[in-house]
Amino acid sequence: MAITIPDIVPYLLASLGLLFLWQLHSLQVRAGRIKAVDIWNRSGIRLFLHVTPEDSHACAACREVNNTAFLPKVVASMKFGPLTKPCTTPPGFRCLMVGLHGSWPEALRLQGQLMKQPGRVCLSSKEMTQLLDGALASTTPSDRISIAVLDSYPCGKQQHGLGYQVLSLCD
Ligand SMILES: [Zn+2]
Repeated sequence: MAITIPDIVPYLLASLGLLFLWQLHSLQVRAGRIKAVDIWNRSGIRLFLHVTPEDSHACAACREVNNTAFLPKVVASMKFGPLTKPCTTPPGFRCLMVGLHGSWPEALRLQGQLMKQPGRVCLSSKEMTQLLDGALASTTPSDRISIAVLDSYPCGKQQHGLGYQVLSLCD
């Protein structure tokens, strides 16, 4: 007598295996054996950029941290919160934090600045423009998706063809 295994069984087993691995990983993260910063280190994320659509809805707290760069170890801290005050934007919090490998010259310079300061640097509009110009001119393919995300992020103004606000209130 032949036993017929339904086609779906291998997929179910694979899904259960993935679920098990994910649960195991989650337990290890919660137990402190794996840290978010380690995962970012392994993935090559070397800095984060915090941006917000700077339109008429943006609250003062979000505007204050627009175009701010952070080191991964700062973002991984349990106490980390990009905003210094609660967000009061009427449509709700719309900020975006984008992880970057940052291997083009302007991004490497920014990482140097982040090492000297406490892991957080607010960029002026000029610095942000230079950073994005550098990313666009870079031939390194690693940040293409992140730059595309920033590029498609909604904002009130456009500069250099990017749908991305490069005007900072922090300078
Ligand atoms: Zn806000």
